[in-house]
Amino acid sequence: MEDSADVVVIGFGAAGACATIEAAGAGASVVVLDRFAGGGATALSGGVVYAGGGTRQQVEAGVADTPEAMFAYLKHEVRDAVSEATLRRFCEDSAKMLAWLEDQGVPFSSALCPFKTSYPTDDYYLYQSGSEDAWSDPAPRGHRTRAKGTSGKVFFARLAEATRRAGARIMSQTRAVELITADGRVTGVRCRTLTGLPQALHRTLTRAGAKPWLYYPPLGKRLFALAAWVERRFGRPLVVTARQGVVISAGGFVANRAMVHEHAPAYRGALALGTPGDDGGGIRLGVAAGGKVARLDKISAWRFVTPPSALQRGVLVDADGRRFGDVTRYGAAIGDEIVARGGRAWLLIDDDILRVARAQVRTQTAPFQRWQVRYLLNRGLVTAPTVGEVAAKAGIGTPQPFGTPPYSLINVSVRAGFGYPCPTLTLGGLVVDEETGQVQGVPGLYAAGRSAVGVCSESYVSGLSLADCVFSGRRAGQQVVKEAGC
Ligand SMILES: Cc1cc2nc3c(=O)[nH]c(=O)nc-3n(C[C@H](O)[C@H](O)[C@H](O)COP(=O)(O)OP(=O)(O)OC[C@H]3O[C@@H](n4cnc5c(N)ncnc54)[C@H](O)[C@@H]3O)c2cc1C
Repeated sequence: MEDSADVVVIGFGAAGACATIEAAGAGASVVVLDRFAGGGATALSGGVVYAGGGTRQQVEAGVADTPEAMFAYLKHEVRDAVSEATLRRFCEDSAKMLAWLEDQGVPFSSALCPFKTSYPTDDYYLYQSGSEDAWSDPAPRGHRTRAKGTSGKVFFARLAEATRRAGARIMSQTRAVELITADGRVTGVRCRTLTGLPQALHRTLTRAGAKPWLYYPPLGKRLFALAAWVERRFGRPLVVTARQGVVISAGGFVANRAMVHEHAPAYRGALALGTPGDDGGGIRLGVAAGGKVARLDKISAWRFVTPPSALQRGVLVDADGRRFGDVTRYGAAIGDEIVARGGRAWLLIDDDILRVARAQVRTQTAPFQRWQVRYLLNRGLVTAPTVGEVAAKAGIGTPQPFGTPPYSLINVSVRAGFGYPCPTLTLGGLVVDEETGQVQGVPGLYAAGRSAVGVCSESYVSGLSLADCVFSGRRAGQQVVKEAGC
């Protein structure tokens, strides 16, 4: 089978949708392919977008923020993942980017969260989502999509509707397996596609499997193994010619254990936060066409101790009882510190912190956080009248005492156990030209989102991946059309 379009986009998550909307909006005919039904990690996500510099929601909430303040904070997180000029542009355009998302139908809100949390309850949608306090930067920039539960579903659904309105064709159950090149330029994509009953079966299996794959892997893996069999048995070859260019937006590689093992062995055994589509396939397509990769060793490991917010008054200690780190920082910064100590850590709290934390549970936790909170305040914790006794119970060296007895130690190690997994996300990918999003050295090929190196590729704070997907996806969609001279 053969097909053609001006632009072919591989992967229909946040980055792919944004690239498609821009390219189609500029008049190109666009086909967007997805191995599954689309949505990817984006649809499972919390739908938090890191934005600032004076968004409409910040202004309505009475929050003071400027692009300069946002740049000053993000410089600490982003470091040299992108150039200063790119980061500056990201910050200067941030409020406009959020307004663009609203224009596509994504709803946000100015309801400001009054407490520190890893994800606000359904009462709040604007919150301090990073380590801003560690750098004396009070501005809340986490803009959670306004929707109940985990908001990524609505975030993606609105982008998907906008993609359809823009006139793009979406080919689901179609897996890109190879890029076609002519005279050193990428000119198309070789795929395997499903139609008819096998397509419907594959769609049902992968839709049903997405959440279990994340939250109950034994079931999720079985459903996806069946789907992979359907692909092998019924997949038909399809060639889609791209007259202007190809965009790779096929997610990261956290589902590819061999790649994680090779590039970031310290993170083995942590929970893969994504979908089976995050198998590094998109990155490998770019490499086979001559692209380079960077920062594949950068992984975001989430070790949140809030909610409840009182826990950030505790102190982190290692297996020898030595204090380390700053528990008020973002969960991934804490995760990095723990991984650097061999993956083992405890949170020491006193009686007052425990009492206040228990009282905060009802008002500060979203339903999906209850398991984690139960772990932190019950199953994962040992208590004793003295610091020496509690350390002996936990099997670690004795930390310095603080506060009022009795004391508790919470095991926050990477492999702490059931109910408190350590989710991980890959941050590196194909190296792109920061002005255009073109994969360096490969004409006709662009990359965006977690298939590419971007703003969040050094370290992630909540919302920075989706914000980068929008930023890099739009850039790729605009440039693929512009460079082709349309
Ligand atoms: C539970 C959870 C919560 C999160 N919360 C947040 C949050 O609130 N804010 C934030 O910024 N980040 C969050 N993240 C991270 C964020 O969701 C992802 O980093 C981001 O969505 C990646 O977007 P993407 O467009 O690069 O890839 P995806 O959204 O994963 O889309 C990639 C698509 O490519 C398809 N694909 C893969 N290979 C192929 C192929 N060979 N051919 C065709 N199609 C292919 C996949 O099926 C998939 O649909 C969260 C992640 C998870 C899992």
